Amino acid sequence: MCFKVWRAAIGFAYLRAMTDPKSLLALETSPPCFSAEAAAAFARDIFGIDGPAKPLYGERDQNFRITPAQRPGIILKILSPTELESAVDFQTIVLDHIQAMDPSLPVPRVRRTLAGDAYAFVKDAAGTPHMVRALDFQPGRVMDDVEPTPALLRDVGAQLARLDRALANVFHPGMGQKIVWDLRAIEILRPSAALIEPAQDRALVEAVLERFLAFRPHLDRLRHQPVHNDLHPGNMLVDADATRLTGMLDFGDMIHAPLIFDIAVTAAETVGTSLDPITYATEIVAGYDAVNPLQPEEFGALFEAIIARHALAATIMAWRKQNDPAGAEKLAALAGIGIAAIQAFLAAGKERVVARFRAACASRPSAGLTARRFAVLGKGLELSYEEPVHLVYGQGAHLFAPDGTDYLDAYNNVPSVGHGNVRVADAISRQMHWMCTNTRYLHETVVAYAERLTATLPDGLSQVLFVNSGSEANDTAYRIAKAVTGKSGAIVISGAYHGITEISAALSPYHGPQAQPLEPYIEVLEVPDPFRGRFTEAAPYAADADRAIAALQAKGLGVAMLLVDSAFTAHGITAAPPGYFAAIAAKVRAAGGLVVGDEVQSGFGRMGEAFWGFARHGVVPDMVTLGKPMANGHPTGAVVTRPEILEIFQRKIEFFSTFGGNPVSAAAALATLNVLQEEDLQGNAQRTGTALRAGIASLQGRFPLLADVRGAGLMTGVEIFEGGTPSRALAKRIANAMRRAQVLIGTEGPQGNVLKIRPPLPFNGADATRFLETLERVLAGL
Ligand code: PMP
Repeated sequence: MCFKVWRAAIGFAYLRAMTDPKSLLALETSPPCFSAEAAAAFARDIFGIDGPAKPLYGERDQNFRITPAQRPGIILKILSPTELESAVDFQTIVLDHIQAMDPSLPVPRVRRTLAGDAYAFVKDAAGTPHMVRALDFQPGRVMDDVEPTPALLRDVGAQLARLDRALANVFHPGMGQKIVWDLRAIEILRPSAALIEPAQDRALVEAVLERFLAFRPHLDRLRHQPVHNDLHPGNMLVDADATRLTGMLDFGDMIHAPLIFDIAVTAAETVGTSLDPITYATEIVAGYDAVNPLQPEEFGALFEAIIARHALAATIMAWRKQNDPAGAEKLAALAGIGIAAIQAFLAAGKERVVARFRAACASRPSAGLTARRFAVLGKGLELSYEEPVHLVYGQGAHLFAPDGTDYLDAYNNVPSVGHGNVRVADAISRQMHWMCTNTRYLHETVVAYAERLTATLPDGLSQVLFVNSGSEANDTAYRIAKAVTGKSGAIVISGAYHGITEISAALSPYHGPQAQPLEPYIEVLEVPDPFRGRFTEAAPYAADADRAIAALQAKGLGVAMLLVDSAFTAHGITAAPPGYFAAIAAKVRAAGGLVVGDEVQSGFGRMGEAFWGFARHGVVPDMVTLGKPMANGHPTGAVVTRPEILEIFQRKIEFFSTFGGNPVSAAAALATLNVLQEEDLQGNAQRTGTALRAGIASLQGRFPLLADVRGAGLMTGVEIFEGGTPSRALAKRIANAMRRAQVLIGTEGPQGNVLKIRPPLPFNGADATRFLETLERVLAGL
C-alpha cells in the first residue's frame, strides 16, 4: 500500500493545502521500465552481484530479483525519477538502525554499492537519472494467501513489537512525511467517503470517520514513535508451513505517529476466513503486548484505530475506483473485509473488545487449570462457585475471564480503589524499580504514609506499626495489649473472624466450638443481632461483657483486650444495636483492658458514613488493626495506636517486621489512600450503597425469601430464608446463579445464608443497576 502523496514538506501548510486529494494523489507514478538485461548489468557493475535478473512486482519502484550462484542474492530496485534522495536516506538510516538494535529481526538489509554507498544513479534511454539500490533477498512466501493460525498471529504481533522497540529511538526528518494512510489526516479523504456504495456502507464508514475525528485529540496523549505503518500480509513473508514470520518489508510508509497505529494496521488487516475479525486482532495484540507491553489507555485507542483504518481503506478504495481503477483493484481484498470488520467491532462494542484484548494479553493458555491447582495447592483450598471463575484482568469493579467475559465484581473488598488501578500499579512498579528495603533505613514514603494515615484517625491514634496482613496486625495487637496491661485475657464476638496466625486464629471463633475449641484465655460474647438474636436493644447484649470479664478475672488472667470488627462481617454484616460497641468498650476499659478496632473489613471508607468503622459506633479504640484494602491488594497491614502504648511495647519487645512498611508497600498504601481521598470513594460508597440496598429492599415484596437487607456503605448483607427459616442451600444457589449471570457475590454468616455484597469502592450507579437487574432475573428464575 505504498501510496504516498507528498513526502517532503512538513508543517501545517500541508493540511491546509490538502483539501483536494485528487491534485495530490496525481503525484502517483508508475514504475520505470528498464530491461532485465540492464538490471543484471547494474547489479553486476554497481553491487558486484552477478546473476540473472527476474522482474518482480513493484507499485512505484521497478524491482528485480538477482540470483547469483551464491544464493540468496539481492532485490535490485530502480526508483522512479520523482523519488527524493532524502526518502532513500530515510529508509537506509532506519534499516541500518534496526539491524544494529535487533540484528536477528527479519527486515531487509541495505546492500552497499561497490563504492560503499547506499544507492547509485543510472540513466534511462531519455537520459533521466534514476536511483538504484539493493536489499538482501529475504526468503519466504508472501503472507497474502495464508490463513493465519493463532500461533502465527502471535508471532506476527511479537515480531512487530520487536520492530517497534528497535524503531523507538531513531530519527529522520522523513518521518514527517504526509501520507494518506496516516489516520490523523483522515479528514482530507473524508469527502471521498461520499463515493462509497451502497448507501448503508457509506453511512457506516462516514460514522466511523466522524467518530475517529472526534477521538483524534486523545491520540496526542499516547506514546509516539516511528512506526512502520504498513505491515499487512502483503508486506510480510512466512516460512514454508506458515508458522513463523520470516520477513517484514516495505518501510516506505513509515511515519512518526502514535505507536498503536502500527498495531492497528496489522491487527485490522492480518485476517483470514476462518475466525472472526476480533479474534484475529486479539491474537496479534496479545503477541505484541508480550514483547512490548501496551499502556492501559492504548487498548481503547487501538479499537478506534482499527475501525478507522478499515474506514480509511474503504474511502481510499472509493476514491480510487473513480480516479485510479488499477489502484482500486489492489485494495479490493482489503475492502472486502473492511465493512464486515467494522460491523463486527461495533457490534461487540469497545468495552468488550478492549476486555478481550486485555484478557488475552494477561493470560497464558492453561489447560486443566482446576486439576493442576488442586494437585499443587491441595484439595482443601476451596474454589468459589460450582463453576470456578478464571480471571485474568480487572478494571474498576469489573473482572474478566481469558475470553473477555465480563464479571461485575460485587464481592471483593481488597481492590478497594478498583481492580487494575493504574496509580497504585505505577507506584508499586516505580518503587520496585528503585529498591525495596526495610524500616530500619530512613525512607520518605513510609513516614509520609504514616503521617497521612494517622491524619485520618482520631487524635491520639498517631503511631503506626507496619506488618503484612490483618492476621499479623491482630496477632500483634494482642501482644501489645498483653505487654501494656500485664493481663492476658481477650474478648471477641462469637463467630468473629480475625485471622490465621496462632493467636489471631484463636481470636476467631468463626468455625464454632466443635471445630475449634476456645483457648482458655478467650471469652466470646453473644452476637448483638437484632434480626435473629434474643434482643433488639444494646444493653442486654452488652451485659454479656460483664460475664466475660468476670470469667477472665476468675481465671486470674484479667482482660488485656476487646477485639471487634465493627462491620460484624463474619456474622452476616449484622446491624448491631446503636450503643452496643460503646457499652462493651466502656466495660472492658473499666476492667483495665484495651479496646481494639479490627478495621480490616470496615476501614478505609467502606462503610460510607464514616472513613473508619468504629466511628459509626461512637467509639475511639486504643488500637486499630488494618489490612485487606490498605494497599489495594499489595499485602500490607498495620496496627495504629497511641504513643504511650507503643512506647511500652517497644521497650519490652524488640519488634521488627522484615517486609512491614517496606518502601514498595508504603508506596502502594500511599497511592491507595490518595485515590480513595481524591476520588471520594467513601462518598461513592455511601451513595451507591444506599441506593443498592434500597433497590434490593424494593424486591422484598415480590421475593419474600429476601428476609432482611442491611449494611452501610458498600457493605451489604441479605438474609435468605426458605419456609421461614435461614437457608444456606438457597443462598448458595443464588450466589451460583448470580455467578452464571456474571455477577460475583459471596455468602456469609454463622448459617451461611447471608448474601455478602461488598464490591470494590468504584462500584457505581450503572454497576448497581446491573446488579439489581441481574438479581431480579436470578430470583425470578429460581
Ligand atoms: N480481620 C478481619 C475482620 C478479617 O475479615 C480478616 C480476613 N478476612 C482478617 C482480620 C485477617 O486478614 P488477613 O487474611 O489479611 O490475614
